[in-house]
Amino acid sequence: MLSCPQCGAPAQSALPGLPLVTCTSCNALLMVDGDNIRNVGDSGRMPFDVSPLQMGTRLTVEGQRGEIVGRERWAWDNGSWNEWLLDFGGGKIAWVAEEAGYYMIMSAIQPRADVLKKLSDLGGQAWGVLGETVQVDKVRYTVSDVKKVSCVASEGHLPEPIGADFPRRSLDLRSKDGRALTWQRDAHGSGVWAGRYYRLAELQPAGLRQFDGWSMPRYAGAR
Ligand SMILES: [Zn+2]
Repeated sequence: MLSCPQCGAPAQSALPGLPLVTCTSCNALLMVDGDNIRNVGDSGRMPFDVSPLQMGTRLTVEGQRGEIVGRERWAWDNGSWNEWLLDFGGGKIAWVAEEAGYYMIMSAIQPRADVLKKLSDLGGQAWGVLGETVQVDKVRYTVSDVKKVSCVASEGHLPEPIGADFPRRSLDLRSKDGRALTWQRDAHGSGVWAGRYYRLAELQPAGLRQFDGWSMPRYAGAR
């Protein structure tokens, strides 16, 4: 069994496509390669929150069942939010961002070079880009937000070494029909993510968190 090189506690093996795990005992961010495990940073301390999602929650997106295996908590000047890592197996993942009772599910896309350049130009600017539009695969998106964010803490299985205080630039765009596009740039490179909002019930959730003062919706019982 693997153990944390910083504190000696048992550590989890890596999942396909997700070489990072966090130590539940000392919060070390660990890079796992087979039997080789090394400490690559501090994952930070996850603050208390009241999300119905948790590690092990299962969700169905467009007919595919996945399980939440990781989480990053991000913050900006006016607040913070969770991004849950949904693992479909075999290295296929999506991120689930929680926003006011809705769940935005985002998967990586590879836009054309000219689209990527436009997103990168807009994302690099500090202001003056709200309302600009970008067309991606017949969908017209409008810039709704551009900001600097930083990771508060991460936990579980992760694709990249992102822990406490990790900075990122992000540009958010929305379409009129509820679709979302995000461009991000950080020390690991840049990427574009596309998806849309869902209600929790649409995702056929199982294994939701239960806590006092919040009753489990009826649809959440089924697997
Ligand atoms: Zn440890």
